[in-house]
Amino acid sequence: MTTEPVEQHDEEIESEVEEESSSAASPDLQFPCPNCGAEMRWDPDADAMRCNYCEHVVQVPRAEGTILERPLSEAGSAARGLGLERRVIRCDTCGATVSLDTGETADVCVYCGSPAVLDQDANRNAIRPESLIPIDVGKDDVESAFRKWLKGLWFRPSALKQLKHFDAVGVYTPFWTFDCRVHSDWSADAGYYYWVTQTYWTTVNGRRVMRTRQVRKVRWVPKWGSRDDAYDDVLISASLGRPHDLVNKLGPFDLNALVGYRPEYLAGWRAEEYQVDLETGWGRAQQIVEHEQERRCGGDVPGDTHRFLRVANAISDTRWKHILLPIWSLQYRFGGKTYTVLIHGQTGNVVGHAPYSWVKITLFVLGLLVAGGIVAAVLALSQLH
Ligand SMILES: [Zn+2]
Ligand SMILES: [Zn+2]
Repeated sequence: MTTEPVEQHDEEIESEVEEESSSAASPDLQFPCPNCGAEMRWDPDADAMRCNYCEHVVQVPRAEGTILERPLSEAGSAARGLGLERRVIRCDTCGATVSLDTGETADVCVYCGSPAVLDQDANRNAIRPESLIPIDVGKDDVESAFRKWLKGLWFRPSALKQLKHFDAVGVYTPFWTFDCRVHSDWSADAGYYYWVTQTYWTTVNGRRVMRTRQVRKVRWVPKWGSRDDAYDDVLISASLGRPHDLVNKLGPFDLNALVGYRPEYLAGWRAEEYQVDLETGWGRAQQIVEHEQERRCGGDVPGDTHRFLRVANAISDTRWKHILLPIWSLQYRFGGKTYTVLIHGQTGNVVGHAPYSWVKITLFVLGLLVAGGIVAAVLALSQLH
């Protein structure tokens, strides 16, 4: 019912894009300030575009973008590119491909800190993000969250808390989300416990005696059934560069905050290009769905236990969208090493790596041993009396 107006809207976006790329051929700024003509960037604190020079603020209209979830078959017709001119650099160390404003420079990879970054052409054929969560945590909040995090760490070098130089960069990281329906037919042997009384012989005080005991048995009964489930926004990371151990600890994103994609949101920020393509992403989502269905069907089998569970899934109505989620990637150097810390761009949650102070750990362990020795000595003394 809603397909027609949505398709029309799409065409609108595409014609808008052509306009933009033709104007981007001139050396003009992408988002010039209507007040003074300087470059504007997306400002999370103002929740709007802000001029770098005169601080003029321009609201970005939100209602215009309709967040559209597409059937898998429509991947070919999805809009392409980011809709603005960007510089693209690729990290040779971790493989992250990150775009930034044309006027900006990047000497190191935002994820791993490697200086092995090379300019490359933007992938104009990459599927355009359907929506994103605008970065909500500003640079000052990132700094204070990072300092608080450092203070809360145990057994770290004291000098770490006075750390002066670190570089925090806001990055939109790519994800796929998938919706689908699943019809699952299952069959299994349902197991029902029952108890039987067994008699057995044993030796008590050198004499053979007969005893009884309760033994649990299982009665197996073939069962079958089916169930229907719907999945909404199964989230698959499309990133290659990020330290995945950290990302998994960042915590979930509130996808209700997604807004329709507009190039304005990227102004002044990095955006990683997806490295996991739609097909691969769907393969991973499908595994998650199938695994979950197996678990749910297992829960449907009546009785106390089950065996030989077989599940046949029919997945339909698959819809996807490409989204960008905000994180801050912060790097600092300590003792000649680079450490990466990530800050959730929505909640401000901090996860990261930091060096340990082996001196402090050794002192702590020695302290424990001394305390243990004192306790032992006190106990020994108290027993003398
Ligand atoms: Zn201005
Ligand atoms: Zn890297």
